[in-house]
Amino acid sequence: MSALTKVGVEVPLAIGRPLDYRAPASWKLAEAMAVEVTVGTRAYVGLVTQVGKLESAEDVLHAQKLKDVRRIVSQALPPALVALAQFVASYYQVPLGVAAALITPNDAAPAATPIAWQLTPLGDKATALLTARQTKARELRALLKDALRVEQKSALSPNQRRTLGEWIEKTWVEPIFEQSQDTLVFPQFPKFTQEQTNAIAALRETQNRFVVSLLLGVTGSGKTEVYLDAIAATISAGKQVLLLVPEINLTPQLIDRITAALPNVVTAVLHSKLTPTERNRAWHDVHQGRARLIVGTRLAVFAPAMQLGLIVIDEEHDGSYKQNESPRYHARDVAIVRAKALGIAVILASATPSLESWRQARAGRYRLLRLNERATNAPPPRMRLVPGRGRHVKLGLSDQLADGIRERLARGEQSLVLVNRRGFAPSLYCPHCAWSAPCKRCDAKLTLHQSIRSLRCHHCGFQSSVPSKCPACGHPELIGSGVGTQKLEQALIEQFPDARIARADTDALSGKYAWQQLYEKILAREIDIVVGTQMLAKGHDFPALTLVGVVDSDRAIFSTDFRAQEDLFALLTQVAGRAGRHALPGEVVIQTEFPNHPTYQAILRGNYGEFADATLASRDEFGLPPLTRMALVRGEAKDAQAVADFFAHAHATLRSALAKDDGEVFAPQPAPLARRADFTRWTMQVIAPKVAPLASALATLRESIEATKTKVRWTIDVDPYDFG
Ligand code: ADP
Ligand code: ZN
Ligand code: ZN
Repeated sequence: MSALTKVGVEVPLAIGRPLDYRAPASWKLAEAMAVEVTVGTRAYVGLVTQVGKLESAEDVLHAQKLKDVRRIVSQALPPALVALAQFVASYYQVPLGVAAALITPNDAAPAATPIAWQLTPLGDKATALLTARQTKARELRALLKDALRVEQKSALSPNQRRTLGEWIEKTWVEPIFEQSQDTLVFPQFPKFTQEQTNAIAALRETQNRFVVSLLLGVTGSGKTEVYLDAIAATISAGKQVLLLVPEINLTPQLIDRITAALPNVVTAVLHSKLTPTERNRAWHDVHQGRARLIVGTRLAVFAPAMQLGLIVIDEEHDGSYKQNESPRYHARDVAIVRAKALGIAVILASATPSLESWRQARAGRYRLLRLNERATNAPPPRMRLVPGRGRHVKLGLSDQLADGIRERLARGEQSLVLVNRRGFAPSLYCPHCAWSAPCKRCDAKLTLHQSIRSLRCHHCGFQSSVPSKCPACGHPELIGSGVGTQKLEQALIEQFPDARIARADTDALSGKYAWQQLYEKILAREIDIVVGTQMLAKGHDFPALTLVGVVDSDRAIFSTDFRAQEDLFALLTQVAGRAGRHALPGEVVIQTEFPNHPTYQAILRGNYGEFADATLASRDEFGLPPLTRMALVRGEAKDAQAVADFFAHAHATLRSALAKDDGEVFAPQPAPLARRADFTRWTMQVIAPKVAPLASALATLRESIEATKTKVRWTIDVDPYDFG
């Protein structure tokens, strides 16, 4: 019997310890390798964290009973990447196996496919002896002398293909693989503005050491050009660069711009919509160093780049950098941990940085680089606040906004209407008794979907038809409340029957390429008015778009989420930045009942720094992040008593684990959505001034919960963004 090794493998399940497997000693398994193993009947890729010597006879006997490692998926992952997974596990309170899944490939490296074939010196000599009658073979020789490309290969005759196979076997012919270019053609930039020049010089100065630069530039100030220069400089120094973007689907223009600017740089694109095969190929392209630029969404922060020299985070304030399922990491924070360990630079770009980053810049821990002017000389858009209710508002559309749209239509320009739907959807109610359609399984109202005449629960998926009269009082007419995108689209169609109107929200754009198609239609000026949700606010650049209207943003003013004002400021600044980016001047009309509210006033003044300082001061006053750290414990179960017991235990445990001076554990309370799909849901908040005591208290809590058998589905969310 051949020698065996026993290995401990961390698999992506909530187990909390490595599972033992065996493998032939000849495989030479080592720590940090990725291997495929089975748990039950399912196969997983896991990370080897222990390699055991089989010393005693007992050990050997025990190893006989273990399951086999199926195969090796990757040689040892770099220690820096394993350390990053360990950081995620300990900071975000997840088992190491779950965090390890962020860094492992899902399969072994695909065999590289040749892009061409050529004669070896031996093959050249041998085929020189072909006779004049061997025309087909001589033709093949001629092609191979030059390098036979993949498309030429498919045009060969069957006989020639057979001959090629024989020549490859005899080593007369060898494959050529794609190679990444060593020399970089530096991008063609427009003439930089003075502010851009200064920022570029500052960034060039800090290559190769850990410095976080916060590139704060108003929309249209040309931030992309600035960080492109840093990207190009890093790649030409032989390093790889990681560029994180909020959502790939919503930023096709940015990716085109970057790949066009760096035409001979092999780029890997990483996001969650890739097929497993695509994802795996990208993983190995990055790992083997073929890909020099990695562009991706939050998960790309774990890309296995071995020669990483720079991390750029575009729109660093964007909420999509936080993962709202386990492991609940924040890609910006992970990126900074990674960069610090590697001693490399980070660039955070935004027109409205997160208060987390602003605070660091204020304290001098991040370097602040500002671009206050638009690069194109386009003046900033003119902003107006107008009433959103009353006599001059029809179906949610104010006369002022409608007039603006009419002017644009007359001039052949485009308008964008943003419906802020975050945390809100139109519901159905009775004007007589105020009944409104509830979900049978949640503490939520059903959302009215006008186009399909149905009511749907956005939390659990429950559906029902629209009743013809009020189920409570029998009143014959029910009314849809609030302004949804569909209702507003309806209003626009009624007022502008000849306009070409498109709707952009997740309902209307469910297909994979739907947004891309709409995007191109807007660019081609085949659309006059586009109405939709925050997906319209991202960094798009539509030259003929000169009017932006905002409808129904007031709900953010009353939100209980402590980040609501910050989000509103960012959203409205972003969407306003879509107006009049080039030759044509832009205008923004915001419908509100509260024009004097400080957030709206700050948006009008367009002064991020002033807004951020004031908001930060009030956060500090209430002891909220980013001054402090927050964690949220969530628990839900069908059995309400089980939830109560769980939180009683969790509350007591956390209280005794966290010293009084180290933070405050708040009493558990029902979640804002206290019942969802028949589950009773509670949350418990903890706030602490310092990271370390909080992390250790949360670890104690986690161990204690894991040790009890609870029916409750629970999570610990560190630095939570979603309180629903
Ligand atoms: P931001 O990301 O800061 O909102 P962008 O990088 O998208 O701004 O730039 C806005 C527009 O200005 C783009 O069309 C870009 O090509 C253009 N631009 C950038 N820098 C310059 C410059 N120095 N001169 C002229 N146009 C520029
Ligand atoms: Zn009624
Ligand atoms: Zn529901």
